[in-house]
Amino acid sequence: MSHTQTFVTHLECSATGKRYEADRVHGLSEAGKPLLVRYDLDALAKAVSKETLATRQEGGFWRYAEFLPVRRAENRVALGEVMTPLVPLPRFGAKLSAKDEGRLPTGSFKARGLALAVAMAKELGLRHLAMPTNGNAGAALAAYASRAGIRTTVFCPADTPEINVREIALQGADVYRVNGLINDCGKIVGQGKDKVGWFDTSTLKEPYRIEGKKTMGIELAEQLGWRLPKAIFYPTGGGTGLIGMWKAFHELRAIGWLTGEMPKMIAVQASGCAPIVKAWQDGVDHAELWQDAHTVAAGIRVPAAIGDFLILDAVRQSGGWATAVPDEAIVDARDRVAREEGMLLCPEGAATFAAWEKAVADGLLSADDEAVLFNCATGLKYPMPDKAGSVDKDGTVDFAAMA
Ligand SMILES: *Cc1c(COP(=O)(O)O)cnc(C)c1O
Repeated sequence: MSHTQTFVTHLECSATGKRYEADRVHGLSEAGKPLLVRYDLDALAKAVSKETLATRQEGGFWRYAEFLPVRRAENRVALGEVMTPLVPLPRFGAKLSAKDEGRLPTGSFKARGLALAVAMAKELGLRHLAMPTNGNAGAALAAYASRAGIRTTVFCPADTPEINVREIALQGADVYRVNGLINDCGKIVGQGKDKVGWFDTSTLKEPYRIEGKKTMGIELAEQLGWRLPKAIFYPTGGGTGLIGMWKAFHELRAIGWLTGEMPKMIAVQASGCAPIVKAWQDGVDHAELWQDAHTVAAGIRVPAAIGDFLILDAVRQSGGWATAVPDEAIVDARDRVAREEGMLLCPEGAATFAAWEKAVADGLLSADDEAVLFNCATGLKYPMPDKAGSVDKDGTVDFAAMA
């Protein structure tokens, strides 16, 4: 197959700016911080235009190949990606919509980041990938790596829902439950690097997941006709998506595809695990480890994020904020949006809705402002309450009660 061009020039430490060579296996920088991929944006802009992009048949994130680091098209790993829809929620806000990432392969937006991490692993010849996960990342890693013929080992907190653990195993990973949280799982992955020889694919510990998540921002801009909403509510765990979108917006601005105001980036966490919110309130750049983290929104149960300073930077630069919502508000939001709009959000997505309602109530936004909520996974992957009645087929059916 043909040689695609990539416009990657180098990688760069997100904290010190130190340069690293492209086309080599990299984890964190020497400073222990995430690496960011840098491109020759002038050359990129000459190679692709909004108009050529509009003519592409490919619906998913691989349509943005020029903005991505994969050099050879045959290394793209695909499972039928789609452009995820913006679903309006007009009963709540005239210009409120949810970007439904649950339509992606493996039912979550983790597909974006892991497809890129796996494609780059394939390109760089890695044979065995390991990661800690609260569920969705492990499923996406397992699926894309199996597709690419790469072995995977995945560690989940012991209380990860059965459906996540089983889908990970079915899609080809060796999966283990750990009696701890995601950071405890991460330690085991780190320790196994030398002992087993696997590559550590933890959030932000390899450079390419951010590039995959970046496509959420490019896609949103393209969907809206190359402009952005006033506010973006993002359920924040490790923060890859928020950091990635912010990077996308800067790259699009640099090539002149976006003009005008940048959106306010709003980092949403759960009250039971809100390290970024605390750091934002305290006005500091780094978040402390959150003790006794708990929330029904498993995807954002992340007590410590290695990219904390990048999340906080994006939130502050954008004029946004960080906010926490309690589990009761998350569950209530999920129930109401499903009942009133027919849209089943995942708990993390429901958290963004609760945060949007709070922002409107607090006067930070008007209900008529254009706002996008990120529903990062399908609501079907999560435990749901049983609300069914029952009928005895051999008895007398009480139709009056059903009228
Ligand atoms: C992983 C995950 C998140 C958090 O995403 P980050 O970009 O790592 O902050 C939010 N929601 C869901 C459903 C997830 O799976």
